[in-house]
Amino acid sequence: MIQITMPLNFLGTVYREIRQALIDMGDMFDLLEQPAEVQDKPDAPALAVTGGQVTLENVGFGYDAARPILKGINLVVAPGQTVAIVGSSGSGKSTIGRLLFRFYDVNSGALKIDGQDLRDVTQESLHAQIGVVPQDTVLFNDTVHYNIAYGRPDATEDDIIAAAKAAKIHDFIVSLPDGYQTSVGERGLKLSGGEKQRVGIARTLLKNPPILLLDEATSALDTQTEMEIQAELKAMGQGRTVITIAHRLSTIADADQIVVLEDGVIVEQGKHDELLGLAGRYAHLWNRQSEEDAA
Ligand code: ADP
Ligand code: MG
Repeated sequence: MIQITMPLNFLGTVYREIRQALIDMGDMFDLLEQPAEVQDKPDAPALAVTGGQVTLENVGFGYDAARPILKGINLVVAPGQTVAIVGSSGSGKSTIGRLLFRFYDVNSGALKIDGQDLRDVTQESLHAQIGVVPQDTVLFNDTVHYNIAYGRPDATEDDIIAAAKAAKIHDFIVSLPDGYQTSVGERGLKLSGGEKQRVGIARTLLKNPPILLLDEATSALDTQTEMEIQAELKAMGQGRTVITIAHRLSTIADADQIVVLEDGVIVEQGKHDELLGLAGRYAHLWNRQSEEDAA
């Protein structure tokens, strides 16, 4: 989605898109030559992750004061649980992810990990404990190797290859002219959305964090590849806290908890079978997707 060959009058739009992509990318925060939206408190301690419980306490948030986006969200993600957030486009799903990574502070309520308010700990320690696979992975203008190793700079070659294999991108990489040393990005090889997404998944598999945030992490993949990578992401999620924002409901039917968000409010919450039993919003989304899949 980021193109460099664009008329000048589109640069404003492109800039905003890049910024949003960077925001979604998470880890690349320090690349933005902009004052951070949030600041560490003086002498803030590092986040200490014990079990990895994520708690949203009556969270209210808007990008500007005039337009609230999240309106009193209460959610407890128990240590090791997988919680899926579903709902229409624009309902605020990705915003929850951005708050968890503390790109913004909540306007009211609190967001906590293992009882520690995110505003009270260093951003560096927070970012080290959360792995994000975003909708649009942004690649550095560097080698494939660098782009995967960014998740863990001290990783060995074997670690990187193992992560690439798990993300189903290894065979593609070795087919490139310079293999793992091939340059990608604006001055190198252009990768498709699905290939970039798999590099992003490899990066996160390598980082191996206690808390995982998957924001439509496999949306750019074909169904077969998506199924294969979902299996890897599920394996990676074992024993970790996972918040997964899903576009395809079949990938999250076995989540410990499913949260249906509409217009910044949780309208339904429970397990797949319970929600189907309600014959409400989730059941409607599920039936619609089942029909689409059958078509
Ligand atoms: P979802 O992920 O559920 O599709 P988002 O959380 O991305 O929705 O967006 C929720 C709402 O917030 C949308 O109306 C969107 O336009 C708005 N929004 C998202 N990002 C920004 C931003 N950086 N600045 C202002 N508004 C935003
Ligand atoms: Mg989103």
